[in-house]
Amino acid sequence: MSAAYDTLVPGNNFRNCSGHSEFCFFCQFGPQTTNTKTDMASELRDIVRSMAGNHCEVSQIARRVLTVYEEDVRQTIVYETEDNDIIQAPEWSLASITRHILHSAEFSLFAGILDSCFQSILMNLQSGIFSDDNECDPERLEQFLKTAKTYTTYQSAMKRENGGSKRQRNA
Ligand SMILES: [Zn+2]
Repeated sequence: MSAAYDTLVPGNNFRNCSGHSEFCFFCQFGPQTTNTKTDMASELRDIVRSMAGNHCEVSQIARRVLTVYEEDVRQTIVYETEDNDIIQAPEWSLASITRHILHSAEFSLFAGILDSCFQSILMNLQSGIFSDDNECDPERLEQFLKTAKTYTTYQSAMKRENGGSKRQRNA
């Protein structure tokens, strides 16, 4: 079995940055911290937001962030680890970038992944509904219709969440 949609995140029970010891530039230079590197961090954050706004894939966004970090930022960074080791120009790995933009609360890109999963599953299911001699596989058809229904329910829920009425829900 393989994943419906590969996000390049290595398998791990801890999905967010706090479950990993790898260096994460966004975590070190968060929006709430004030220091000389904050401008660079906010530039990188703008890249994430604008690419996400243009519906770029997570892997594409992470690669772009990595390129800019490597070219313009990395050499200027000095990082002190929890053990007080000083690391010059720390490596910010693609996995670490992906983890942060996907699972941190600051960017909500996970919804996009769900969309890709649904689409990938639906495409796989629909390709097996009819055999070569046009025989319909009723089980496959039912799976497809169920998934499609779940997907459209999910999509309307997301629409209600993101736009439409901003009225408070009853607890
Ligand atoms: Zn992080």
